[in-house]
Amino acid sequence: MTESDDTPEVPIVCPDCETTSRVPLSEAGDAVDRHNDRLHDGDEVASVDPEVADAIADMVAEDLDLV
Ligand SMILES: [Zn+2]
Repeated sequence: MTESDDTPEVPIVCPDCETTSRVPLSEAGDAVDRHNDRLHDGDEVASVDPEVADAIADMVAEDLDLV
């Protein structure tokens, strides 16, 4: 398996459904919204893995040269 695609994937975890799914970073927000909408009446149950979300925030900040 090669990882030629440079789109980072992020894990979305839902403690209620006990699922983790990996989606492209650019779709993570939508995927979380959709999941919570469909399965949890819009409650914010599922979310991007917090540790990963932190790492991504750092990564993006560095990318944009905000520091
Ligand atoms: Zn769920």
